[in-house]
Amino acid sequence: MTKQTLAILKPDCVQKQLIGKVIDHLLNAGFRIVAMKMTHLSRESAGEFYAVHKERPFYPDLLDFITESEVVPMILEKENAVADLRETIGATDPAEAEEGTVRKLYAENKQNNIIHASDSEENAKIEIAFFFSQKEIIDNQ
Ligand code: ATP
Ligand code: MG
Repeated sequence: MTKQTLAILKPDCVQKQLIGKVIDHLLNAGFRIVAMKMTHLSRESAGEFYAVHKERPFYPDLLDFITESEVVPMILEKENAVADLRETIGATDPAEAEEGTVRKLYAENKQNNIIHASDSEENAKIEIAFFFSQKEIIDNQ
């Protein structure tokens, strides 16, 4: 079981100045940050990252949203990291998210939902490699 997953603090999180609160929530949930950066995705990069949703009706809006301002991708480490982070952030739609989850606390709607988390161990590896080189990951130098 891989111990790492990828989170991205989305543009709404950055714009609402919630980065600190969300990071605090993740640390309190037992995650360790082993890599982090701030970056502004180009439409091309965003399209590659969300290629799985290419045929969905919300895809153009999703690309507008995710490229609106900078984002904060980070690698989080913990036992059972992938499943535990999904649980910590809550359902895609904050109206359906459990009490106390990041999205329930801070997200506005199904699109503007504050944070991304890898949805499988396989995708966690792909998404980590999308944002970070080995040299950028703590303990890997
Ligand atoms: P993420 O991949 O960002 O962690 P998720 O896995 O909970 O979120 P996905 O189904 O992978 O949800 O959708 C990716 C993102 O696309 C969502 O987080 C949200 O920002 C947007 N999205 C998904 N469904 C809708 C929808 N019906 N309407 C608008 N935006 C949506
Ligand atoms: Mg997803």
